[in-house]
Amino acid sequence: MEVLENEKIPSIRLLNRSDVQALLKAFMNGSISVLKPVIGQNGDFTYPEAEKIMGTSTRVTREILEALAGEEILFYHVSVVSIVCPYCGDNRFVIQLVCPHCGSTKLKIGTTIEHLECGHVDFEENIRNMICPKCRKRMRALGIDYRKPGVMYKCVSCKEFTGEPRKKYACLREKHVFYEDESISRELYSYTLNPKKKDFIGKFIIDLNPVVEALKSRGLMVRTPAKIRGKSGVEHTFTLFASGGNGGDVIIVDVLVNDKPIDDSALSLIFKALDVNASRRVMVFIPGLTDKARTLFDYYRVLPNMSIVECKNINDVGSMVLNVLNNFVEVRPRTI
Ligand SMILES: [Zn+2]
Ligand SMILES: [Zn+2]
Ligand SMILES: [Zn+2]
Repeated sequence: MEVLENEKIPSIRLLNRSDVQALLKAFMNGSISVLKPVIGQNGDFTYPEAEKIMGTSTRVTREILEALAGEEILFYHVSVVSIVCPYCGDNRFVIQLVCPHCGSTKLKIGTTIEHLECGHVDFEENIRNMICPKCRKRMRALGIDYRKPGVMYKCVSCKEFTGEPRKKYACLREKHVFYEDESISRELYSYTLNPKKKDFIGKFIIDLNPVVEALKSRGLMVRTPAKIRGKSGVEHTFTLFASGGNGGDVIIVDVLVNDKPIDDSALSLIFKALDVNASRRVMVFIPGLTDKARTLFDYYRVLPNMSIVECKNINDVGSMVLNVLNNFVEVRPRTI
């Protein structure tokens, strides 16, 4: 399946992508219910399940999910809010605690005691027999003449205690240094299917399972969707690609769905198919072609290894493709 450049309705462009179809199929049949972001080792966040299903890169996967959410085909929900470097967006840091009094990063942590009579604060471990190291008086009763302020930080440089040191971050990617209050937060989303769009999506989801099974039973290797590098060097995505064990019989099937008859802009699909060596190319247009496109396509229709199929109903695609391929598989014409 291919994206038509001049298609005006973004959802139709999206839904015609084989990779998007594979993802939506997984949502529709319940094999995925929610896509959650995963933070990878390099700090990038990914949707590994979606990448696996669609065969797309991390970046393209995110773009597709965002686009599907933009069309309200998927719902997005804030899954994680992470602090990121304001300069490069990295979310992996070395964090240093900084003394708010003198800026030193040499801070020791410990549980503290404050002698209320003289105001001296010290780590518990420095107090022997409850004698205040400053005024040498004995501390007698918790809450009366001393208290426990809890865990605090002592600056090795200026000796001051603080309960709230500043946090200085250095991102791992570029070593940018910034304070916590200068950081920015980024929301990472999880995605679910919008149940109200199920009927709409169903109009685009093509069930080629019968075709896949039939081809497999004849010993062909089948991929759907499939990325194939053409003779021009450009990589194309097809709805289905099948090849025989010796690599001799190559079948490509490409399906384009629209909400109205498809015009001659669909010619790009035919050129795409011709860019790949194949013994059979089946091009399916749903719900059909415009008169103008049909006239134009008549030239390609007569090519011996090309079948142009107009199909009114998406549910008939499987059987129509099988019809075309049945002839082919039985007759096995010479590869062109
Ligand atoms: Zn950075
Ligand atoms: Zn004291
Ligand atoms: Zn200090």
